[in-house]
Amino acid sequence: MRINVHAGHNADGRTACGAIGFIRESTEARRVKDAVIGMLRQLGHTVYDCTVDDAAGVSDNLRQIIAKCNAHEVDLDVSIHFNSGARDASGNGRTTGTEVFVYSPSSAARTDAEIVCRAIAQLGFQKRGVKYSTGLYVLKHTKAPAMLVECCFVDDRDDVQLYDCQKMAEAIVYGITSQRVHAAEKQPDADQEPIAPREETAIGDKRQLYRVQVGAYAVKGNADATLAKLKAAGFDAIIVNA
Ligand SMILES: [Zn+2]
Repeated sequence: MRINVHAGHNADGRTACGAIGFIRESTEARRVKDAVIGMLRQLGHTVYDCTVDDAAGVSDNLRQIIAKCNAHEVDLDVSIHFNSGARDASGNGRTTGTEVFVYSPSSAARTDAEIVCRAIAQLGFQKRGVKYSTGLYVLKHTKAPAMLVECCFVDDRDDVQLYDCQKMAEAIVYGITSQRVHAAEKQPDADQEPIAPREETAIGDKRQLYRVQVGAYAVKGNADATLAKLKAAGFDAIIVNA
């Protein structure tokens, strides 16, 4: 897949930064964004980072993000945010949780958004669900299907205690690609000699990915049909443009 990913708002410490609670939205959204991009690239996807750190204000930040997003032909735009407004400073034992926005029920990003939301909820966050908004600038102005992920709440003690940047990123990547990145694959073992790229060894190169291909199609609808069959059969399959 080809995917645009950005963290919302300017960077912390600038004007127009994100929400601030126990954690800071702009900072955490950038950490999750970096982890998501790293995992997607590891899985072989083409990813563009469309984050804007130092715009003149809120609307300039949004305009610049859209300009970056729409400069690339992609399958999906992903906007990463954290929510606020829970006002649970003491912790009531329940998270306020996660929600994912798409433009409308007919958005092509809706199914992926539902899987992202479910995957984050499986980490223990309350599932607020997929929501529709025609008013969110990023969802309205991106050329490709788009989703805006509100990972969890910065001002809910329970959310912040549960929040883990890597797990959040893994859930988002799974929702987008149906591919799992497991911790063991992220880094070579510390005590293992690094293997030079392209160097094949008798035991196999851990960094080499072997893809199993089922078919190649000139018509997207035929690829979609095969994908649906594979998914129905329980395979985590994706369509790749080659
Ligand atoms: Zn935000």
